[in-house]
Amino acid sequence: MSDQLFPVPEAIAAKAWVNEATYNAQYDRSLKDPEGFWREHGQRLDWIKPFTKVKDVSFKGDVHIRWFYDGTLNVAANCIDRHLEKRGNQTAIIWEGDDPNESRNITYKELHGEVGRMANLLKAQGVKKGDRVTIYLPMIPEAAYAMLACARIGAIHSVVFGGFSPDSLANRLQDCGSTCLITADEGLRGGKKVPLKKNADEALKASPSVKSVIVVKRTGSPIAMEAGRDVWYHEEAPKLSTDCPPEEMNAEDPLFILYTSGSTGKPKGVLHTTGGYLAYTSLTHQYVFDYQEGDVYWCTADVGWVTGHSYLLYGPLANGATTLMFEGVPNYPDNSRFWQVIDKHKVSIFYTAPTAIRALMREGEEPVKKTSRASLRILGSVGEPINPEAWLWYHRVVGNSKCPIVDTWWQTETGGILITPLPGAIAAKPGSATKPFFGVQPVLLDNDGKVLSGATEGSLCLADSWPGQMRTVYGDHQRFIETYFATFPGYYFSGDGCRRDEDGYYWITGRVDDVLNVSGHRMGTAEIESALVAHPKVAEAAVVGYPHDIKGQGIYAYVTLNAGETPTEELRKELVAWVRKEIGPIASPDLIQWAPGLPKTRSGKIMRRILRKIAANEHNALGDTSTLADPAVVGDLVDNRMNRG
Ligand code: ATP
Ligand code: MG
Repeated sequence: MSDQLFPVPEAIAAKAWVNEATYNAQYDRSLKDPEGFWREHGQRLDWIKPFTKVKDVSFKGDVHIRWFYDGTLNVAANCIDRHLEKRGNQTAIIWEGDDPNESRNITYKELHGEVGRMANLLKAQGVKKGDRVTIYLPMIPEAAYAMLACARIGAIHSVVFGGFSPDSLANRLQDCGSTCLITADEGLRGGKKVPLKKNADEALKASPSVKSVIVVKRTGSPIAMEAGRDVWYHEEAPKLSTDCPPEEMNAEDPLFILYTSGSTGKPKGVLHTTGGYLAYTSLTHQYVFDYQEGDVYWCTADVGWVTGHSYLLYGPLANGATTLMFEGVPNYPDNSRFWQVIDKHKVSIFYTAPTAIRALMREGEEPVKKTSRASLRILGSVGEPINPEAWLWYHRVVGNSKCPIVDTWWQTETGGILITPLPGAIAAKPGSATKPFFGVQPVLLDNDGKVLSGATEGSLCLADSWPGQMRTVYGDHQRFIETYFATFPGYYFSGDGCRRDEDGYYWITGRVDDVLNVSGHRMGTAEIESALVAHPKVAEAAVVGYPHDIKGQGIYAYVTLNAGETPTEELRKELVAWVRKEIGPIASPDLIQWAPGLPKTRSGKIMRRILRKIAANEHNALGDTSTLADPAVVGDLVDNRMNRG
């Protein structure tokens, strides 16, 4: 399967920002002359005081990372003000509500006014440059206004996904000492109300640093307001001017803190700064999605995740793009919703996650086929390795076999996309993130820290910095050094395992901690999972290792079947035989447990560390589960754990 090559469609290559020849030339240049390369691309931003220094980085010792560091700018001005002359009346944000009858277009001019007012309201609430503001909002335009308003006045935002519990919110408020919280009365997702203000009140009891709360009215349900602390956005904002001069910020002043999704442990407060982050996200947004004038771009990620920061908001708006923001979920009112939204707004670039693709694939082709999707040109994937089976379905069914797929590998920590196909330049292989972006130097290391060359497999590290890289863990630089630079001195360690094939293509094999060692053979979880998902009856699979007397580690597979399939002993045997045939006897699962649902983070990633604990019969030590989307799933899996005697 991995040998299948999908060439770049000629029509795409002809118009693309980057084609095969220019990719190779520019990539070589970006490594030979990083200063020159980034000096040139730093010019894509509007600087108040132009930078003269490009890069000052050390991955050793106390680790410091600085880009464009004597320049000053304002991120909100770069995302809004500088477009006003040419694009004042162009739509900046298309907002599509949870209810299909609700949508709205916000022009750059309107965005300018809304952000100015929100910025003035923050100031009126006493928020100053450098203060932390936590944003706990649903996917409504005010979430974008709030982020950009912080950027405008130099406050540091910390967005917390609206699906998080009061406890998770409180932890994040305390960790960064927020003085202001922006929330809503309630959120609306899939027709259900989410009690945001109620959750916030609960969290605020444990968060004394918060002095003021701004509440946006979304559903109008009655909520409690605390006098002296809480204000209504719709009452206060109209009293204020829409004009708020942007604060002059150094390129290395913080822009935001964002907590990782918690797949592997307690979330880390990742800190990003202004200049390098914006230059990197805007350049990657343009090249990776081949963004062209007139495109309608839709990234389905919530603003609570880094994808929602870099590729829903900052990258696209810095490019003067039209970006779509969706409040709802893929299966409401029915399983055609994504595709209906694409038709309704003539979306040409669509960026989503493998978890969503697998869930929709489970429901068959009919909900997709009854829509047109004729406007689509480019498809994207992010968040987990995409199983080749899901890739092929996405390509054939959603993209009518004509849209290139960009499988983008990156992390909250990297700020932007690092390994990805460029649609006009790099032929795709289903399941591979393919090649590094400009300026990115991936290296694979073995456990002794030796750099591996050629076709090989190892721990994925980066040999040098790129402008979008995180600068520190907020308030804990030591943790930053220990987490990312201590394992392989001199390198940034991603935590992911990776294989490089004969063509120099990169394949993410899963988290390094999840690598299996079966009778001395090292295996990534991704490959076995993809083999299982390739079976026609399987919707989703998660594979972990468990202690095995003879093999050292045995292979334990959790399998979710397609809608309408029944788990039987025969099917279990069939799946074992199937994996043997697809990969080889060494990969055959020792145990298969039927899983009606898998434990996932709220961003939709499978949390293998929990599955590992269940498989090892250590379900009393599950670790941090605060970022689980549906804790009930765990109980079911524990109860039905395979009886191994
Ligand atoms: P935590 O760091 O708290 O454990 P997390 O790693 O899930 O959480 P994110 O920063 O949201 O937090 O996710 C980054 C990770 O997602 C990557 O390290 C990688 O494992 C996975 N990932 C993202 N995109 C891809 C992709 N295209 N292919 C393979 N894996 C991907
Ligand atoms: Mg991570």
